[in-house]
Amino acid sequence: MPRKPRIGVCVYCGNRREVTRDHVPPKCLFPAETRVNLVTVYACCTCHDSYKLDDEYFRVTLSVRDDLPIGSDSQFLRDQTRKTLRDPAATAFRKAIRASTVRVPIHSPSGVYLGHATALKIDTARVKRTAERIVRGLYGKFLGHPLPQAYDLQVVLLDLQRDMSALKNPEVQEVLMLLGKCGKHRAFGQALDVWYATTDDDAHSSFWVIRLHGAFGFLGFTVPRD
Ligand SMILES: [Zn+2]
Repeated sequence: MPRKPRIGVCVYCGNRREVTRDHVPPKCLFPAETRVNLVTVYACCTCHDSYKLDDEYFRVTLSVRDDLPIGSDSQFLRDQTRKTLRDPAATAFRKAIRASTVRVPIHSPSGVYLGHATALKIDTARVKRTAERIVRGLYGKFLGHPLPQAYDLQVVLLDLQRDMSALKNPEVQEVLMLLGKCGKHRAFGQALDVWYATTDDDAHSSFWVIRLHGAFGFLGFTVPRD
C-alpha cells in the first residue's frame, strides 16, 4: 500500500502542504556514520528538491579547502567531489566547476613563493543560499517554529580556521559575547558546532554561529524586516 503523504508546515517556506524529512545541515556534507547525529526538519517537496544542486556546490567548496582537519570526514568530502566531477550525468555542473577554477600563487607563512596551485573561485551568493537554509532549518528545529515572514535572515561567511582566528574579528566577538551570556551550544561530533541565542526583548531575533568540519563557518542573524 502506498504510504500516506504527511502534511505539515515546511520549515523553509512556512507553507502547510505535503512534507518530507530534511537533514540540517544537508546530509550530503557528511559521511553516513555522522548523519545519524544530524537534526531533521519537515520540508515541502518544492523546497527540498530545489536545494539539491546548491548543496552539492556547497560540498565542493568545503572539499577544496586546505584547512580541513585530517580525518575521515575530510576524505569523504574529497571523494564525493571526485565522484561528482567524474559523473557523466553531471555535465553542466562539472563544466561550471571547471570554468571557475583559477591558478593562484602559493606563499609560505613567511612570504616565500612556493609555486602555483589550482583554486576554485567561489560563487559566494550560492554558498550563502545553503548557509541561509541551514540557519533557517536549525531555527525551526531549536525554536520550534519556522522563521516568521516578518523576519529577515542574513548570513556572514567566515573562515573559521582551526586556530579560530576569524573569531577575533570585533563584530564576531560581540556576537560571541552575547552568545556566551545567554547562548546555547550544541555539538554534533566533530562535524558540526552550533551556538545560538535569541534576544531578551524579541524571541524571533536570533544570532547563530555555525562551524562545519572544524574549518568553515558562518554567522546567521534573524532580524525584523524594515
Ligand atoms: Zn517549502
